[in-house]
Amino acid sequence: MSGGGRIPLPFHDAAALALRDGQLRRNLGTVTGAIRAKRTAVTEELPDWQALRAAGKAIKDHTLRNLGHYLTQLEAAVTSRGGTVHWARDATEANRIVRELVAASGEREVVKVKSMTTDEIGLNEALAEDGVVAIETDLAELIVQLAGEEPSHILVPAIHKNRAEIRELFLRAFELDPSELNDDPADLAAAARSFLRERFLEARVAVSGANFAVADTGTIAIVESEGNGRMCLTLPETLITVMGIEKVLPSWRDLEVFLQLLPRSSTAERMNPYTSFFSGTTDGDGPSAFHLVLLDAGRSRTLADEVGRETLRCIRCSACLNVCPIYERVGGHPYGSVYPGPIGAILNPQLRGAPNDAELPYASTLCGACYEVCPVAIDIPTILIEMRRRVVEGSPRRPRRLSATVEDVALRAAARIFASPSRYEAAQRLARLGQAPFVRKGVLRNLPGQLSGWSESRDLRPIPARPFRSWWRERAATAVEEGEK
Ligand code: SF4
Repeated sequence: MSGGGRIPLPFHDAAALALRDGQLRRNLGTVTGAIRAKRTAVTEELPDWQALRAAGKAIKDHTLRNLGHYLTQLEAAVTSRGGTVHWARDATEANRIVRELVAASGEREVVKVKSMTTDEIGLNEALAEDGVVAIETDLAELIVQLAGEEPSHILVPAIHKNRAEIRELFLRAFELDPSELNDDPADLAAAARSFLRERFLEARVAVSGANFAVADTGTIAIVESEGNGRMCLTLPETLITVMGIEKVLPSWRDLEVFLQLLPRSSTAERMNPYTSFFSGTTDGDGPSAFHLVLLDAGRSRTLADEVGRETLRCIRCSACLNVCPIYERVGGHPYGSVYPGPIGAILNPQLRGAPNDAELPYASTLCGACYEVCPVAIDIPTILIEMRRRVVEGSPRRPRRLSATVEDVALRAAARIFASPSRYEAAQRLARLGQAPFVRKGVLRNLPGQLSGWSESRDLRPIPARPFRSWWRERAATAVEEGEK
């Protein structure tokens, strides 16, 4: 089985459940491994990749420092081109705005371009309260929607499903005879295409997110792989775009940087197969009504946070998910949010701060791989550590003096030991003697007291008979002796 819904449990418990699903782990390992290898190849072929990364970081930082200026510039540019701009403080306001616009159209069905932001605010569910069906048109999003599940990856929402599972789903959802469909990806895509074509031709309202918005021209940019998004952006009469306020860029020229960074980091392509730009409305060409909903929903608060604000540089490429050893083993659902993986571990606590989010900063080995691949160089490990500090400071368990004292004493002792090479080696010798009763089959087991948590869930190697420093000294001495001969 491969579970498909967010698990309403703290991360620790939800991840333990997900880990028992062998099929899920195989699906995740296959897909993340393939995307990782492709991404490495297409980034390494660019000699200026690190310079591009630095440029992306600098542009985003500049924009965030002057966010108010660029947002009002964007509003003026969109309005001057026939669009209407709406400001939403939170998810409730954004959903209300979209619901009112759809209600005014009289439509009972809208088509949707894949959008993390509308998933974040729960727009489909809000529209459903009015009896409006929102049809996801991205193939993977459609799979997840038909299955009644939740996306588990930013870029590959159906990463937890394999071809056989998708075929079963389509047979049921499209009421096909088993002889009409096999699990060949092209056939599966064709089945979805024929279902979606009718929806595109009938739709009068479309809803999208935005990858970028250009302040000086009022242009919205949307990148995708399938062309379904472009159908939504061009065929319906009304287009509603819901965009987080951090997506704005100052000028058209800035897209040069991000349209190189994003595809290589996300789908591992040199450019996206479909890159759509639209600015307001044009008579006789595309939607006659365009509404841009600018969503805050915790972003202003995040911007005010000196450590956390760089999270807003994120361009939702999902590269950090694909390299994360935690994500690769448990998938997206244990994170309990549309934003899983390393970015989810720092974004969710800042944007929404739900009770279970306090565990998310611990969903990391702090290996640093997420920072290495991030195209806008977000220092995720440092933010994770700061968030852990805040969790501990704000924890109701903090006043329990016993555990705090033991931990404080242990850490102070560790600090003294690590500060001195001789103390370090003496401690190592002592530990080597003391570890003997706990070594089983080359692994430390059942450590006593507060150390037991470590050996419960980790295969700790014992301290070797000849540690690195001894080996190094002996090697250096041998080299000197040989030099003297
Ligand atoms: S944090 Fe960086 S790597 Fe992760 S999704 Fe955002 S931009 Fe991509």
